[in-house]
Parts: sequence; structure tokens; C-alpha cells
Amino acid sequence: TAIVVAIDGPAGSGKSSVSKQAARELGYAYLDTGAAYRALAWMLLDRGLDAGNPLVVVESLGEFDFAVGTDPDQYFVKVGPDDVTVAIREPWVTSEVRLVARLPEVREHLMALFRRIVVEAARPGIVVEGRDITTVVAPDATARILLTASEEVRMGRRSKELVDQSAAVVGEQLRSRDRADSRVVDFMNAADGVTTVDSTELDFGQTVSAV
Ligand code: C5P
Repeated sequence: TAIVVAIDGPAGSGKSSVSKQAARELGYAYLDTGAAYRALAWMLLDRGLDAGNPLVVVESLGEFDFAVGTDPDQYFVKVGPDDVTVAIREPWVTSEVRLVARLPEVREHLMALFRRIVVEAARPGIVVEGRDITTVVAPDATARILLTASEEVRMGRRSKELVDQSAAVVGEQLRSRDRADSRVVDFMNAADGVTTVDSTELDFGQTVSAV
């Protein structure tokens, strides 16, 4: 059976870049589960559908043709023929993702998808990152990690990525997203058997090594 490294954490914890680099160093595949939630929100917005209407969102799952690159060196995200790797990071998508992520039908659908990808892509292992990987998607994972950092540090890292926005705006968006997401899954506290890696005082390389 495959080696699964499950990593959860809040926005701006460095989860994606750390998980990707850890996968590279281990020679494992990499799965970004947030990309699927983002891609679904992108599809609804792109088609002018109401992401706030649960019936509309659940119905759209049947047409959600999602593909993601699991090679850490060839990362891409596609919805049908559209490459949405960049578009799903845009603020207009980020602010709407919570609307789809809160729906149990969406979470079940994507969980089944994630489990299929893990079985197919884990050669010899896979690093899977998100919010509910250690608790729901892969509770039996070989290694289960909660990656955290102080709010100040997470805000600082995120404002460096989003150079065109003020630190205050970035901070408020981050807090509001974490607040909404925490109502759906608790990723601020480590579940039983989950190891916390606090990157507040660590640089990127040290965090990857800790993982
Ligand atoms: O990790 P990322 O910031 O790309 O995730 C985007 C959004 O997708 C999160 O804010 C959350 O609403 C949702 N998500 C989730 N469960 C996961 C991964 C992401 O609900 N496992």
C-alpha cells in the first residue's frame, strides 16, 4: 500500500510550497486538494452560475471535469479543456470558494475524487495537502501533520505573494476565510495522532526538513 503524507493547515501557512518541496525531496507525488474546491468555484463563476445556491452547485458536480498535475515539477489545474492553474488563485475565485466548500455533497464528491487520485498517483508515496486530509480524507495516512504559523507571519507571507494589495486587506481576507472554513472543518487544532509543525520561527528550508 502507498505511503501517504497528510498535511493540513490554515491559509498562508506555507502548506502548498512546503508540501510540494517535501514531495520533490521524497520523490513522491503531490496533491493540492484546495485546487479542486477552487476549480469548482471557478467553473461556476465562469459559467455565470450562482455559487451561493446549493442546488446549482450540487447539480454542477456532474459536469465538473477536473484534472490536476500530481508531479510536483509539472503542476497544473484544468477544468475540461481550460487551464485554470493561474485563474483559480485570483481574489474573485478565492472569495467564493467557501460557498462550495461548505456543502457536504461537494465534500463527499471531492473526497471520492481525492481517494482515487491517491490510489493512482502514489508512486511510491504522495503528499496530500488541504484542510481535512489528516481527519477525513486520509485519517490512516502514514504521516499526519498540521502546519501552522502565527497569524502575523501568515499574513506577512501572503502579502508578499499578493503585491498589489495592502497588508490590511490581505489580513482581513485571510482571517475571514479561515473563520468561514473553520466552521466546516477544524484545521486550527491538531486531531489525535497529528503532529504539529509550527513554522513561525522557521524559514522555508527548515520547515520542509521538519515535515
Ligand atoms: O488551500 P487553498 O487555500 O487553496 O484552499 C482553498 C479553499 O478550499 C479553502 O479556503 C477551503 O474553503 C477549501 N478547502 C477545503 N478543504 C480542503 C482544501 C481546501 O474546504 N481539503
